[in-house]
Amino acid sequence: MTAIDLSGDVAVVTGGASGIGREISVQFADAGADIVVADLREEPREGGTPTVERIRAETDSDAQFVECDVTEQGDRENVAKRAAEMGGADVLVNNAGIFRGEEFTEVSEAEFDQLMDVNVKGVFFVTQALIDQLLEDGGRVINLSSVAGLEGSGDFISYCTSKGAVRLMTYSLADKYGPEDVRVNAIHPGVIETAMVTEDVPIIGGESEAEFRQTVPLRQFGQPGDIADAALYLASDLSEYVNGESLVVDGGIAST
Ligand code: NAD
Repeated sequence: MTAIDLSGDVAVVTGGASGIGREISVQFADAGADIVVADLREEPREGGTPTVERIRAETDSDAQFVECDVTEQGDRENVAKRAAEMGGADVLVNNAGIFRGEEFTEVSEAEFDQLMDVNVKGVFFVTQALIDQLLEDGGRVINLSSVAGLEGSGDFISYCTSKGAVRLMTYSLADKYGPEDVRVNAIHPGVIETAMVTEDVPIIGGESEAEFRQTVPLRQFGQPGDIADAALYLASDLSEYVNGESLVVDGGIAST
């Protein structure tokens, strides 16, 4: 078996304090990368030890936390500065995101703006802030879209809008930076067991859990580690000819 080796890489993971971003951060560190965890706050939403402490305890890699709201230019600059101090970003995982269920006619402009600011503008401008570093030595950008970025849903219209934008941003960045040896790919998770779907919109643990589970051909929800495995592949040389790709990790939802 080919082991994935990210030693010598610096990876920036937005939203790395919790859920999927936390697991990606730990797995990347375990594969040898030094990690910049960029998030609103250091404590995981699900509780427990902060990501950087876990990384320092469980791996030989360095990890630094930077308090960052991806919608704030100054915060994005701080992330870029810290990554530069650590040797320069080689991998960027645009993972920070928010989710909302909604009745279409009740969405306010402020709510719509907030979703777009975090899920779309955040990805755009964090990438912009780090692109010079990523261009230095064969960069990789991994954007967290969603099955909701491939298929529409009347229950999550603004979220689908935002994640569809991330998909086309991914393809467009792949076109622009592929010639300069920066690969840009998207991961499209299905329902992954994190606070986002157990608390924000309780797909898991809510009344419709059984109904949702029936929409998954594998008849189970995913775990953050399933997405971290996909991210490891996209960050590594195993995917060196993969660019502008949508990697769907959803137990088969999008194929039905
Ligand atoms: P989560 O809520 O568990 O974690 C998201 C993290 O992002 C949190 O630590 C939060 O503090 C951080 N964050 C939110 N807004 C931020 C901001 N403005 N600036 C910086 N950090 C911010 O969610 P998750 O399930 O781990 O989701 C991670 C990504 O995966 C998101 O982009 C989400 O849309 C996507 N996704 C999740 C699922 C799922 O089922 N969980 C499915 C498809 C896509």
